[in-house]
Amino acid sequence: MRHLFEPRLVNDAFGDPGLYVDFRDERRALLFDLGNIDTLPPRKLLRLSHVFVSHTHMDHFVGFDTLLRVVLGRKRGIVLFGGPGFVAQVEHRLRAYTWNVVHRYSVELVLDVREIGTDGRGQRAHFSSRTGFAREPGAPFEMAGDTLHEETLFRVRGRFVDHEMPCLAFAVEEKARPRVARDRLAALGVCTGPWLRELKLAILAGAPAETPIQLRWRDRQGEHESVRSVGELRNVLLDVAPGRRIAYVTDLRYTEANRRVLGPLIQGVDQLFIESVFLDADRAHAQRKNHLTAGQAGEIAREAGARAVVPFHFSPRYGGRAAEIVAEVQAAWSGAAVTSNRGRAP
Ligand SMILES: [Zn+2]
Ligand SMILES: [Zn+2]
Repeated sequence: MRHLFEPRLVNDAFGDPGLYVDFRDERRALLFDLGNIDTLPPRKLLRLSHVFVSHTHMDHFVGFDTLLRVVLGRKRGIVLFGGPGFVAQVEHRLRAYTWNVVHRYSVELVLDVREIGTDGRGQRAHFSSRTGFAREPGAPFEMAGDTLHEETLFRVRGRFVDHEMPCLAFAVEEKARPRVARDRLAALGVCTGPWLRELKLAILAGAPAETPIQLRWRDRQGEHESVRSVGELRNVLLDVAPGRRIAYVTDLRYTEANRRVLGPLIQGVDQLFIESVFLDADRAHAQRKNHLTAGQAGEIAREAGARAVVPFHFSPRYGGRAAEIVAEVQAAWSGAAVTSNRGRAP
């Protein structure tokens, strides 16, 4: 069974930060950060169900208008998450335009905007194209631990790091990944197909054994259809392997406090996307700008035991020198660099 989701940076390492997480089997996607997103074609933007904004510096939020323009009149809803002040900031962006005709569009667009406070309390508002995006208050909510969003197959977690302002670092976690026992499938006389996903969902949701699953598959003999119960099919899924976990960490200072906050979020991730804005030689400058150096990013990845690390958010001052930044990250991540060179986190 292929991965539930595929993460990919929206831009090259010098471009605005952003991570597009594609759930291809579900024809939907998540987006982390909303900077320049011109590289994402409309069909990819239309797949977005949830957008998570780390903070609202321009390079992380300037793409809001691009997204709105594409989805308006074509998509029914989108959920946006952000930190303190986010609902008001979205409202201000919406107020900047004149909406005298959008209430007539046949497809109503509703933005469900959720703002997380640093105390874990959330507030929520809806903005509908039917009312010219007037703010409608929603019920306040409280986060369960650091979980921002949860579905049957995955969850999104978020924690605030310090960037001289609160900034959200994120993790996406597949809850479990059942593997298919091909010999058992053959013994039942059936083949793989989209029904496996339905079965997986039913099992993870704890559906009763008699729940019917509609099987459809194609082979050389043509199309086949049959109905089996969850109980009959349960055995074709082998034990559950740990799900895939990725993290997206950007815009933070190199401090002990930030490392402590990140620890539980990124420990053992399969892939860590992490900002690497400056070279280690410029670490005093990085500290002033509230960003990580490449070495510091690699160090955080090494401490977390990240299986792979993908650096991004390179400062334009290093144009043409991307390889140096990557090499510094890799050296610190693999433990090849002398850590005492890097200075201690204050
Ligand atoms: Zn930034
Ligand atoms: Zn920033």
